[in-house]
Amino acid sequence: MQNPSIAGAQPSARAKWPRIVLPVIVATVALGGVASQVRADGAYNPHLFAIGTAGLLAVACAALGILAFRIRALHDRLQELEARNTALARDKDALTDAAERANRFLESHGDCIVRRDRGGAITYVNEAYCLLAGTTREKLIGSTRALDVLEQGDFAVLSDGTRIHDQKIATMSGPRWIAWRDVPLHSAHAPTEIQSAGRDVTDRVNAEQALAEARDRAQDASRAKSRFLATVSHEIRTPLNGILGMSDLLLETRLTPEQATYTRAVKTSGETLLALIGEILDFSKIEAGRIDLDARPFMLGPLIEETIELLAPRAQEKGLEIATYIDPDLPARVTGDAMRVRQVLLNLTGNAIKFTETGGVSIAVEPGIWPDEIAFTVRDTGAGIAPEEQKRIFGEFEQGEAAAKAGSGSGLGLAISRRLVESMNGRIGVESIPGNGATFEFTLPLPGESTPRAAAPDFSGRSILIVSPGAVEAPIMARHLVDWGAHVAVVPDIRAAAAILPERIWDTLIADHALGDAALAELLKPTGDIARRIVLLTPSARGDLQRLRDEGFAGYLIKPVRTVSLAARLAAEPAREGAPMLADIEETSIVPDIEGLDHGLSILVAEDNEINALLTRAHLSKLGHRPCLAGDGAAAWDSYLAAHESGAPYDLVLMDVRMPELDGLEAVRRIRAHEARIGAPRMPVIALTANAFPEDREACLSAGMDDVLVKPLSREKLADMIATLGRRAQAAA
Ligand code: ADP
Repeated sequence: MQNPSIAGAQPSARAKWPRIVLPVIVATVALGGVASQVRADGAYNPHLFAIGTAGLLAVACAALGILAFRIRALHDRLQELEARNTALARDKDALTDAAERANRFLESHGDCIVRRDRGGAITYVNEAYCLLAGTTREKLIGSTRALDVLEQGDFAVLSDGTRIHDQKIATMSGPRWIAWRDVPLHSAHAPTEIQSAGRDVTDRVNAEQALAEARDRAQDASRAKSRFLATVSHEIRTPLNGILGMSDLLLETRLTPEQATYTRAVKTSGETLLALIGEILDFSKIEAGRIDLDARPFMLGPLIEETIELLAPRAQEKGLEIATYIDPDLPARVTGDAMRVRQVLLNLTGNAIKFTETGGVSIAVEPGIWPDEIAFTVRDTGAGIAPEEQKRIFGEFEQGEAAAKAGSGSGLGLAISRRLVESMNGRIGVESIPGNGATFEFTLPLPGESTPRAAAPDFSGRSILIVSPGAVEAPIMARHLVDWGAHVAVVPDIRAAAAILPERIWDTLIADHALGDAALAELLKPTGDIARRIVLLTPSARGDLQRLRDEGFAGYLIKPVRTVSLAARLAAEPAREGAPMLADIEETSIVPDIEGLDHGLSILVAEDNEINALLTRAHLSKLGHRPCLAGDGAAAWDSYLAAHESGAPYDLVLMDVRMPELDGLEAVRRIRAHEARIGAPRMPVIALTANAFPEDREACLSAGMDDVLVKPLSREKLADMIATLGRRAQAAA
């Protein structure tokens, strides 16, 4: 299109030509005429005429020159304007094109687009928006019409100022989920508008909802499975309690060797079944994502040593050595889940004992590679694990060929350990050369407390000779003694001992009972001048102590040797000739000294299962107490009241939790309410339950129980609990 103002300028420029030239010519002729007429006497003078005409001509020429110059300038300007005009026309075409393309883009866009002014009036909508709104563009433009919102999601604002939110919109084709992005459009020439672009995300939201529902259903199913397993395990534990307890009682009667073998087999099978139930229950809890981790400070050394002592009888029964080394640089107290650490250690060490026939098992606890990390290493001298088996044994229900053939175990222990370690942000792995033992290691972040550690003993200047055929315990003891500054030599037999004895003056001899009686007697002969002669023995060899003393040993250490016991034994003054053997140091056997417990308590046992009741009564009687049985909660309550009123209340109540009529929880609530009413002292009440879940324990404690004993009951457990109550009562007094 042409610019009219510029186009109009062209004819007017050309029209100026005659307008200017004509007056110049007229003026020239006129001036010549005038000049020719003018003379002093009034006569015609041709000279003057010629001069006048020439002057006029010169003026005319000058005017013409100026005119020509200006015309030229005007022409140039005109051309320039024409060029600009063409460029502007081109730009305008391009802009129009771009606007059309943008419009087509917005129209063909799958997203809905709407623009509104500050008052909310619609200034632009695309086709997709019209479809969503279910009306025409004409009706929408200029109106403030909003969509029919069924649900509004949360708003969020991005760093560039874009606001995003989801809406569920009612449309003609049903509800749709739209994800909106609202952007302010600023312009120098127009008021600010808000452009909202909405994307239909209905399919995605539906898929997410379906997934969430599926996840909830799976979690429900998993919870139901856990509940089912808990119930089944409870049902299995109860008769198992009877089997284990009764076989214990049977083993204490006079049996023929054959009968004793069969009874022990019954007991071992029962124990295996019990361990299996525990593992399956544990695994189901882990599967259901129900591992609640604790983060509380605990003493690292005692936890490790107690755990190992629990397994020591099993190892010693097989003739295996078992020992622990705890690096002295580790903090004494660390923060973490002590129960879970113990569970993993028990599992790995239990396996190490199970799969080792000769030699032993060692557990080393040392600093890991990262700050606050602790590495636990369980080494054994067993058959080891083939490389292809190493890869899969951490999976669920995976067993090595030999274990699978033997039909022992569940293949869950390592899977549980791996899950536990990983949930505590640790790592677990195995290294093994078949035929050469296996080394399992797990590392855990366990931040230590910066409390000062107890000072390590100083044995510098001491020379200690250890004679032991074992390859596990003696080197670990030597490591501790070297840490404490002693000079230590470890030899495997008396021949090597005889060779090394003359090398220096030894002040301590530690001889392993496993050398055999003859070798020990032989060893004592040339070592008469050694001040401290200590014998190392397993708890089962305690019966030999008197003889060993007579032979010349002045002290003893029970395997597995606790670090504190070792330090205390070596720090003690050498015994005088004929003095009793140094036995005043805490021994390491965890089997409680049943004979040493307080006797003669009057105990009310509320238990509805006849076999369990019989068993508990037998255990308590054997411990020297006076049990009184009640068959359910109501009978227990009556018996409690009657004893109270007669002025001879019970000393303790053992209360089964699940009982008909009145359950254990309700019965204990009544007892507590009664005590509060009459101001009676608190009666210790222990819950007996087959449910091992923490929430069951919690329920018992909050109902008013003092503690919980998990079935199956053993005499040791009962004796321990009664002793603990006694200590608590003393502390409170
Ligand atoms: P389970 O002991 O019930 O069979 P685990 O998950 O504890 O199940 O162990 C899986 C397998 O790993 C075992 O069956 C055994 O083959 C192998 N295994 C574990 N620990 C050792 C070990 N210390 N020495 C040799 N093999 C082992």
